[in-house]
Amino acid sequence: MAKDRLAQVLEDWEAVIGLEIHTEITSSNTKMFCGCPVGFGGEPNTRVCPVCLGLPGALPVPNEYAVEATVLAGLAIESTIARWSQFHRKNYFYPDMPKDYQISQYDLPFCDGGHLDVQVGEGDGAYETRICVTRIHLEEDTGKMVHVGGAEGRIAGATHSLVDFNRAGTPLMELVTEPDIRTPEEARRFAQKLRLIWLSLGISDCSMEEGSMRVDANVSIRRPGETELGTKAEIKNMNSFRALHDGLAHEIIRQAELVESGGHVVQETRHWDVGAKRTSSLRSKEEAHDYRYFPEPDMVPFQFSEEWIEAVRAKLPELPDAKKARFVEDLGLSGYDAAILSADISLSAFFDSAMSIGGAAKAKAIANIMLNDLAAYLNTEAISIDESRVTPAMLVELVELVDGGTISSKQAKVVFSEMAATGDSPGAIVEIKGMKQVSDTGAIEQAIDRVMTANPSEVEGYRGGKTTLLGFFVGQTMKEMRGQANPKLVNEVLLRKLG
Ligand code: ADP
Ligand code: ZN
Ligand code: MG
Repeated sequence: MAKDRLAQVLEDWEAVIGLEIHTEITSSNTKMFCGCPVGFGGEPNTRVCPVCLGLPGALPVPNEYAVEATVLAGLAIESTIARWSQFHRKNYFYPDMPKDYQISQYDLPFCDGGHLDVQVGEGDGAYETRICVTRIHLEEDTGKMVHVGGAEGRIAGATHSLVDFNRAGTPLMELVTEPDIRTPEEARRFAQKLRLIWLSLGISDCSMEEGSMRVDANVSIRRPGETELGTKAEIKNMNSFRALHDGLAHEIIRQAELVESGGHVVQETRHWDVGAKRTSSLRSKEEAHDYRYFPEPDMVPFQFSEEWIEAVRAKLPELPDAKKARFVEDLGLSGYDAAILSADISLSAFFDSAMSIGGAAKAKAIANIMLNDLAAYLNTEAISIDESRVTPAMLVELVELVDGGTISSKQAKVVFSEMAATGDSPGAIVEIKGMKQVSDTGAIEQAIDRVMTANPSEVEGYRGGKTTLLGFFVGQTMKEMRGQANPKLVNEVLLRKLG
C-alpha cells in the first residue's frame, strides 16, 4: 500500500535523504575513556566508574583500540584519515549524561569523506549508485533513560524516569552521509552494506535491535530538477532495516501531502511509531544548535603518522565487494549466488571454510547445496547457520560422495536432511542406511535384462527409432534397483544393450 503510494509521490517529488549512523564499537573490551567493560544490558549501573559517571575531577584516557577501529572503518570506505585530530566537548544538558557535555569530535574528525557504492533492486530495474560519506568521528555513548509507570519505555504517561549508566562511555562511531540518497530503498541498501562492512571489520556486532547500530534519517522533498534543498525532518527510532525503509516512506508521503495541501515542512525531529506506522513530532529543532564546542582540555590532540595509518590499512580484511568478485572470478560462481553468499558474514565464512577443506573445484557444488538444501533447512528450522549441526567439512564430504559416484545427487538430498537433523557425517549415514549407489555393472546388467524382458514392445519401439523411450528404460531400471543404481552407468549399459 504505502509502497504504491510512495511510487506515486515520487513521480511528482524528489526525496533527499542523508543518514547519521551511530555504531558502538562493541568489540572493544573497555569503554572510551575508562577501564569499565563494554556490554549490553546487565544489572543497571554495575559497569560504571567515576570517569563514565562524570564525577568531578575524573580524567579521561582515550581508548587506543577504539581510535584504531574508527580509522579502520574510515579506510574501508575510502575516507581520508586526518593526520591531526582531537576531541571536543559538546555541551548540552540531559540526565543521561551527567558531565553536561559529551566528549565528541567537531571540526577535526578522524575520518573525512569516503563513499559506498550500493546496488539497488534486482533484475532489469537494478542500478548502482554512489553515496558519499561526509565524515566519521568518534565519541562516547550516553547512558540510557528508563521511563516507568506508564506504557513500556514511553515518556508519555510515565510517573518517573530512571537512568542506567552501563552504556555511558561506550565507544561510539558516528558516520554522516551527504544528502545523496533518493529513495527509502537506497537508504536501506546503504545501511545494510555499511553494516556488512563493519561486521567484516569485526568492530561491532551492529545489532539494530539492541541499539549497537542506530540509524537516524534526515529527509526533505523538492520538485524534480530543483537544486535547492528543502526543509528536512530527522526521523529517529527505526530499529530495523524494515523500519528504516517504512519510516522514510511514510515521512516522504507525509511531507508531500502536507505541502500539496498548502502546508509547509518544519525542521523537527520525528519519532517513527512502528505499530501505528507513522512518524510524530518529538521536538522542534532550533535552526542553529549552540553546543558551544570547545577542545577537550583533558586530552592532548592526536597526530597520526603516515606509517601508523598504513599499518592500520594493512589490517583491512577482504571487504564484501572484493569477496563477491573473488567468488565469481576465482571460483566460478554466478553473480547471483556470489551476491547472496557474500552478503552474509556467516554464510561467506562457512563457504570459505568449505573451500579451504575441499578445494575450489567443489565451489559450485558446495554453493549449490548451501543456497538450496541448507538455506531451506535453516529457513524451516528458523535457525542461523552457526546454530545448525551442518559443518563445512560435512558438505565437502557430501559433495565427494556424489563426485566419486558413491551416491547419486538425488540420494545426496536425503543424506543432507539426515545429517542436518542428526549431525552425523554423510559417510556414516550412507553406511547405516545402506544407501550406497550400485556401480556394479553386473547387477545393473541383470536389472536391465529383467526390464527388457518385461517390456518387449518398448524394446521393439526403441529399436524402431523411438529413442525417446530411453527415459522410460532408465526409470524402470532405477525402480528395479530401488533408486540405488549409478544413473550414469545405467545410461551407458542401456545404450549398449538396446542399441
Ligand atoms: P544538522 O545541522 O541538522 O545536524 P547537517 O547539515 O549536519 O544537519 O546534516 C545532517 C544530515 O542531514 C546529513 O546526513 C545531511 O546529509 C542531511 N541533510 C542535510 N540537509 C538536508 C536536507 N535539506 N534534506 C535531507 N537531508 C539533509
Ligand atoms: Zn567507567
Ligand atoms: Mg550536524
